[in-house]
Amino acid sequence: MGEFELIATLFQPLADTTRRPELLLGLGDDCAIQRLPPGQDLVFSVDTLVEGVHFPAEYDPEHLGWRALAVATSDLAAMGAAPVCFTLALTLPDADPDWLERFVAGLRKAALSFGLALAGGDTTRGPLVLSLQVHGQAPAGQALRRHGARPGDLVCVSGPLGGAAAALDCLATPDAPGAARLLACYHWPQPRLTLGQWLRGRASSCIDISDGLRADLGHILAASGVGARLRMADIPLVPGATLRHALEGGDDYELCFTLPPGLHSQLIGYAARAESSVPVVVGEVTVGSGLTVIAPDGQEQQLDGPPGYDHFRP
Ligand code: ADP
Ligand code: MG
Repeated sequence: MGEFELIATLFQPLADTTRRPELLLGLGDDCAIQRLPPGQDLVFSVDTLVEGVHFPAEYDPEHLGWRALAVATSDLAAMGAAPVCFTLALTLPDADPDWLERFVAGLRKAALSFGLALAGGDTTRGPLVLSLQVHGQAPAGQALRRHGARPGDLVCVSGPLGGAAAALDCLATPDAPGAARLLACYHWPQPRLTLGQWLRGRASSCIDISDGLRADLGHILAASGVGARLRMADIPLVPGATLRHALEGGDDYELCFTLPPGLHSQLIGYAARAESSVPVVVGEVTVGSGLTVIAPDGQEQQLDGPPGYDHFRP
């Protein structure tokens, strides 16, 4: 399949089925055109996934299609933005029609589930690499940021952690007991879009957990100039995952946010109504810096050293 045939047969139909009114012009011209309603900010982000780095070699293409868009969309959730559209820059070693069809099937499921129109992209030959740019919108000045956490705020997460990191040990043994639940966390991450938008005007800071709770909460603390205490016994875990997976593993794509304590009852009300991603309080923001964890026996430990995953760490 040639480049243009590939675009016409695979990507144009996806663009048509995911079409949104904000997208004045979608796939097919030199650029797409998106119109922002008055009073809305454009919130956008790009994510690149490299085979062998962000997903295993020979990874199931349907899972890859979902995962790629889910991971990119999680950044919109973290900012409290409503999703609008995305572009896809795809570098492929060859145009295998069966692989591409399954990839687009996963991508379509994700696009329809998150409400994102395919607006365009680029197709090139080379090692398997995907770059997805996502566009969302939020009322002017209201997108959530990392920098507003204040001492006394509650530290919350949007759901059970550690599943995707624990799944990495099961990729080769999918039929082992308990593996299916963990693998689902890895293959089908769910960006917490509804919660993110509910947190607008409420949360003092927010981030999505892509590199482990310790690293990502660390970004909030550094940006806000505060510290935090985490109660380990309160950190929700996916069955089969450990605290280490939750703190140091990655790929959860739950949200971590801080909330003024006066909003606790609103959070409980939200959690009672939530169908997915039930948020829980796991600690509080403190003066100072760094992260202190409180073990179930009450022992406190200051976490030092480099957390999470860093591509350039030797
Ligand atoms: P140009 O040369 O002007 O950059 P292309 O020939 O690369 O345009 O692409 C033609 C049209 O197809 C454009 O609208 C582009 O956005 C779209 N397109 C190309 N590759 C993809 C892709 N992988 N996914 C979605 N749309 C794509
Ligand atoms: Mg052009």
